[in-house]
Amino acid sequence: MDYTHLVKNLTILPASNGGSTKPQLVTMPTLRDVQNQHQVEIRLRLIPDFSTDPISAAPYLYHFHGMKNPATGVFTSIACPPVGPDKRPTCPICQRALAEWNRRHAHLDWNRQEEYLLNALVIDNPLNPAQNGTVRVLKFRKQLKEVIDSALTGRDAATIGTRLFRLGPDGRTLVVRADPSGGYPNYGRSFIDSPERSQRDTAHLSESLQNAIYGQSRPLAEVFPPSTPEEAETWFQTHVLGQGLPADPPDAPMPF
Ligand SMILES: [Zn+2]
Repeated sequence: MDYTHLVKNLTILPASNGGSTKPQLVTMPTLRDVQNQHQVEIRLRLIPDFSTDPISAAPYLYHFHGMKNPATGVFTSIACPPVGPDKRPTCPICQRALAEWNRRHAHLDWNRQEEYLLNALVIDNPLNPAQNGTVRVLKFRKQLKEVIDSALTGRDAATIGTRLFRLGPDGRTLVVRADPSGGYPNYGRSFIDSPERSQRDTAHLSESLQNAIYGQSRPLAEVFPPSTPEEAETWFQTHVLGQGLPADPPDAPMPF
């Protein structure tokens, strides 16, 4: 076996092709970014999720639990298992959180949280210019959801609506704007840009390029797949109760 030859010809899979299970997310500003730069603006074109029937332009909602593991200091999270046929949660962590709330009205680090996902073409991301021109998943919370909702189905639905999901000349650009606010980036002043400025963002995209970009849309339900109740229980035991996280034995013999 000629290993040297094999290693020389190793194929490194690009991340978008199974090289990594990590979702390719749009880099969003940290608190430090907004403090240093005062204001950050990321220009995006949203792309539908073509894997659903009918094709979905709605932000994909998922629930998760996350906290910093006190033993390791590392943030860890797990997506909730799906609700049962009777619409009741099958998530053992959600059930515990509800019981704790009923018992002592306590705020818990590991309470259920919600986030939304959408596919997006990155037009300009000053925080990570390497993302410009790539299709990524935008992960966001309520502030940005309100801006998108008002364009899609709310106040501006008649003038914007599904134009928010078109790459052609009548499409519209979402400008994610982050301002510093009380120790967090605030996205409340994000907006949909004017038809003229939006048109400039994609004027260079031929129809075949647009198609190629649409083709990179990712099934959003697969980005953070739901766990099983057993996996959620193990996560709870390990990270919240702190069981099953063996400390590294300092004098462990080397395995060879
Ligand atoms: Zn849950």
